[in-house]
Amino acid sequence: MTTNITFTMVKPDAVEANNIGPILAKINQAGFKIEAMKYMRLSKEQAGQFYIIHKDRPFYGELVEYMSSGPIVAAVLSKSNAVADYRKLIGATDPSKAEEGTIRKLFAKSIAANAVHGSDSDENAQIEADFFFSKLERF
Ligand code: UDP
Ligand code: MG
Repeated sequence: MTTNITFTMVKPDAVEANNIGPILAKINQAGFKIEAMKYMRLSKEQAGQFYIIHKDRPFYGELVEYMSSGPIVAAVLSKSNAVADYRKLIGATDPSKAEEGTIRKLFAKSIAANAVHGSDSDENAQIEADFFFSKLERF
């Protein structure tokens, strides 16, 4: 299978809990290569834009507040079958439904504060990677 990319964020709850290191270790152990990475805090406007596809969902306002509440780590990851393999590694959106050993099962606090983001398609992975990183920032 050809190598492709996915986009991830370590969300504010996991940064606050000092779980950046353990989460990056799981990502590397699962065979993902880091193509780009930054530590930053999103403004409400940036968080709202990133999650614009969810603007009509009831949790949108809280999601934007939460994602701008503290720093995050954003990264582009590459691997064969990256999007599907990363979704499997992070587990279900609701950590109480996530499989044992998944990042969300291990580190998420709740369905909202669920430790990590992972792209849901190749197309969205490109859009999300381009939202955070210029070509000069990707290796
Ligand atoms: N979310 C939430 N309540 C819900 C569903 C989602 O707060 O009922 C938040 C959660 O942080 C989730 C994000 O909104 O990760 C985006 O939702 P999506 O359905 O895309 O889940 P994901 O792709 O992150 O698993
Ligand atoms: Mg999603």
